[in-house]
Amino acid sequence: MLAGVFQSPGVFAVQECPMPILQRDDDVLLQVRACGICGTDLHILSVPPGIPVEPGSILGHEYTATVVQVGAGVVDLQPGDTVVVDPSLTCGACAYCRMGLPNSCRHIETLGVTRNGGLAQYSVVPARTLHKIHADVPAHLAALAEPLACVVHGAEKVKFQPGESALILGAGPIGLMFTQFFRAAGAADILVSEVSSVRAQVALENGADRVINPQTETVAVDLAVDAVGSLFDIALQSVRRGGRILLFGVNQHARAALAQYNITRGEISVYGSWIAKDSFPRAIHIIESGRLPLEKLVTRCLPLRDAPAAIEAMRRGEGIKIQVLPNAE
Ligand SMILES: [Zn+2]
Ligand SMILES: [Zn+2]
Repeated sequence: MLAGVFQSPGVFAVQECPMPILQRDDDVLLQVRACGICGTDLHILSVPPGIPVEPGSILGHEYTATVVQVGAGVVDLQPGDTVVVDPSLTCGACAYCRMGLPNSCRHIETLGVTRNGGLAQYSVVPARTLHKIHADVPAHLAALAEPLACVVHGAEKVKFQPGESALILGAGPIGLMFTQFFRAAGAADILVSEVSSVRAQVALENGADRVINPQTETVAVDLAVDAVGSLFDIALQSVRRGGRILLFGVNQHARAALAQYNITRGEISVYGSWIAKDSFPRAIHIIESGRLPLEKLVTRCLPLRDAPAAIEAMRRGEGIKIQVLPNAE
């Protein structure tokens, strides 16, 4: 089969790989329908790699597939089922798993990062990572389940309420999903901050009321979401007293210089949110319902052999979400 492989730092290629086979009773063989390319993939492919990956690994952690074959121990899936993949494999045994914090699992593995992922024609995964989705959901939208599940988890953490105002820092796919989600959840006012004028315009088309520059304009929102990963100080400047901050974007190198006093004086609550947690079923229901205009986020769908071009386009900051269709002609 064809697969998109991390070959060495900064080098990605589509190449022939052995067809994966069932190895355990709970394994499922999948034919991949669509797999999203995400900022995490760019981190993996930066030099030096932002996230370490074994050379030869198949990338791709945002995917939807059709079940081809199930192991003897799989009870609730059968060939032909349409599924989405939760790429996080948790151990179920460590202290965090036992505390009900599986996204903090000490032994977590991630399909498409520490194990072969879905940027391939076929993939073998444990059944417990799979969630069914209606077969009539277009593949390029079903493949948004993973990032949307992360957004749903973040929104749940901060208990977003109808009538609230929000500032979203960064209008990439995640910031735009938050925009759509808060709009649908009854936000009174959604402000977006985004340096790219193209993405700023896209934010307005996705439910933002206004694009602002929080460096020059003073605002006092109920909730600020940092979808970039390095904007804690701006988030803190932008919330009202008693407001909440959600730190969602990932940047391991960011070091915020901020006025700690303002958190104390303003009784600001700061939340971190890491990947998805029990939120795939709700993300899938949202996608199936068609209530969010997710179609607007998918700016390109490409066959697998064009995956290197998709990565290049992402590096140039073109478009919003690119989906790879590994079994399309
Ligand atoms: Zn991702
Ligand atoms: Zn664990």
